[in-house]
Amino acid sequence: MEWETVIGLEIHAQLATRSKIFSAASTAYGAEANTQACAIDLGMPGMLPVLNAEAVRMAVKFGLATKAEITRRSVFARKNYFYPDLPKGYQISQFELPIVGPGTLEIELKDGTRKQVGVTRAHLEEDAGKSLHEDFHGMSGIDLNRAGTPLIEIVSEPDMRSAEEAVAYMKKIHTLVRYLEICDGNMQEGSFRCDANVSIRPMGSSELGTRTELKNINSFRFVERAINYEVERQIDVLESGGSVTQETRLYDTDKNETRPMRSKEEANDYRYFPDPDLLPVELEEDYIAAIAKTLPELPDAKRKRFQQEYDLSAYDAGVLTASRELADFYEATVTAAKGTAKLTANWVMGELAGVLNKQGLDIGASRVSPEQLGGLVLRIEDNTISGKIAKQVFEAMWAEQQDADSIIEAQGLRQITDTGAIESLIDEVIEAHPKQTEQYRGGAEKLLGFFVGQVMKRSQGKANPGMVNKVLREKLGSS
Ligand code: ADP
Ligand code: MG
Repeated sequence: MEWETVIGLEIHAQLATRSKIFSAASTAYGAEANTQACAIDLGMPGMLPVLNAEAVRMAVKFGLATKAEITRRSVFARKNYFYPDLPKGYQISQFELPIVGPGTLEIELKDGTRKQVGVTRAHLEEDAGKSLHEDFHGMSGIDLNRAGTPLIEIVSEPDMRSAEEAVAYMKKIHTLVRYLEICDGNMQEGSFRCDANVSIRPMGSSELGTRTELKNINSFRFVERAINYEVERQIDVLESGGSVTQETRLYDTDKNETRPMRSKEEANDYRYFPDPDLLPVELEEDYIAAIAKTLPELPDAKRKRFQQEYDLSAYDAGVLTASRELADFYEATVTAAKGTAKLTANWVMGELAGVLNKQGLDIGASRVSPEQLGGLVLRIEDNTISGKIAKQVFEAMWAEQQDADSIIEAQGLRQITDTGAIESLIDEVIEAHPKQTEQYRGGAEKLLGFFVGQVMKRSQGKANPGMVNKVLREKLGSS
């Protein structure tokens, strides 16, 4: 039987506020355990949570960017469950009335097809603490620094049909929250993670199959692998006559397999009820309109603009707008290169991305500035150096943090464009290779490449290749 995969994602993005969602404790990552949890985060009796206005503003920004409904009156609810890292015995979340209602997001797949994915809702909630199963004399420890950290949970419709689509969606949200500056997107530190809900059904069926939920996956690669593993597992179960159990499963990255964690709880197991300590959040039109004005140019709009303004392919524009920092770097480089857009794109995505990748650096840590890279592109464009020599110049720029012009002068790399000089190089080469010259003149025109190579070698790569070609043809053709 042919099966269809159905996936819905719940993404947790940590909001980039300085203090927690209901207390003044710091959200900074990596502090000594339990030094950033105050009485509110610890769930001491009688403590009153106070909502962080910045978290609300960030959630509204997200809603506006996904063209979603912004709920004018949303409500915090208690989600009751016991867990060692949740001292209150409940998590403050939103249930029936989330701050952000339905919206949509467009994803693009590798083959260029586009698809709309429904975003069901996005709600505010607090994170729990962390259980540390390190070696505490055989015991586990609890670190409550993360308790009360603001999260936005973004829930999708079950609209995705393959692991590739799920990853494209997750990447899209990742790019978006970073553009909006509402989340740092750091996946190693857990600031951006997802639960993948996966089911299968006979191809053509319109009913949903029973799903499993794969918890807390914090890399794009693992999301893809976990989903693919889980789909195969469910197919095996169904094809051998069994049925899929609705449950929460853990993805083991070392073994590349998923394992049952617990049976899936239903919403009514949590006994959600409105939190009596928190007022409903009422938003006014003016407030929302003021936030709308602060939205930056969003990734889709930027990509389209790059295609038009710089005449780039959809692919190049997509790569260059993957982050705001990269897009800004590119635009500053184009300006420095006096508008040489395509060649600049090649350099940013080729040589520069290559060295950043190799050294594990972000664009912000580039040792070559946009002004310097633009200066290099200009020298290729005005024929001072060839593209090949430019690579050598770029390496030196990276190592010595100097301008292209200083390196070209210091190393004497200026291209030879003087006709006389090129002619005498060519004469030398022709004289040194009488046999090949005879063959060429006898019709073996393929040999032109050989002659070009010899001349370039003699000039240490500095002769202008276009001129070498032209003069060679003239000299070899005549006689
Ligand atoms: P819960 O909050 O209990 O996890 P929800 O009904 O809110 O459950 O759904 C959570 C996520 O699971 C959503 O992203 C939704 O799209 C997805 N989902 C629901 N049913 C299925 C299914 N049968 N197959 C795949 N994904 C599903
Ligand atoms: Mg869930």
